[in-house]
Amino acid sequence: MHKVRGILIGRMQPVHNGHMAVIKQILNEVDEIIIGIGSAQASHELKDPFTAGERIVMMSQALAEKDIDPSRYYIIPMQDINFNAIWVSHVKMLTPPFSIVYSGNPLVKQLFNEEGYEVRQPPLYDRKHLSGSEVRKRILNDDDWQELVPKAVVDVINEIYGVERLKNLSVKEVSEL
Ligand code: NAD
Repeated sequence: MHKVRGILIGRMQPVHNGHMAVIKQILNEVDEIIIGIGSAQASHELKDPFTAGERIVMMSQALAEKDIDPSRYYIIPMQDINFNAIWVSHVKMLTPPFSIVYSGNPLVKQLFNEEGYEVRQPPLYDRKHLSGSEVRKRILNDDDWQELVPKAVVDVINEIYGVERLKNLSVKEVSEL
């Protein structure tokens, strides 16, 4: 029997508990999920500190920590392209076939809608705290960021000296001040 696949695309800078809750929810609705690591070209910037490879490790270890069956997901890095009108074709080229798109991002929803895909908006879990920007802000302020992400993500960020990287990125050169 053919498998129903859904796709969730996010920058995942970094992977947080909101992403994990929504992935679990999606897996109640489809056989397999494609997790697109968006803006794969970006790293070492305040808004995008982690490389695609680092985000893949965060995601795969967080999924393992949650005991999610590896045969039910694909993790695929996706670079941005300059042309929104052909972005959906770009995504299709990179992924297994899928029929349902999960997103809360208005541009993503519009682009897939226009190509005839079924688009579902997953519920947002504690969006006030569960967002990549809140995690990055807490890292920079030495606040409790660890409570917002899976334990596996804490371990990866520590392993790659991610806190130091973010703090370093936030330091402006004297000439920029
Ligand atoms: P994101 O990491 O902010 O969120 C990804 C998804 O995770 C959201 O749609 C949402 O459904 C879910 N999510 C996040 N926080 C949640 C929470 N607290 N509770 C429940 N669900 C939560 O990423 P994003 O900005 O939506 O990513 C879109 C990606 O697509 C970006 O990388 C963007 O550059 C890319 N994109 C590229 C093009 C192009 O290249 N032309 C066009 C459109 C989009």
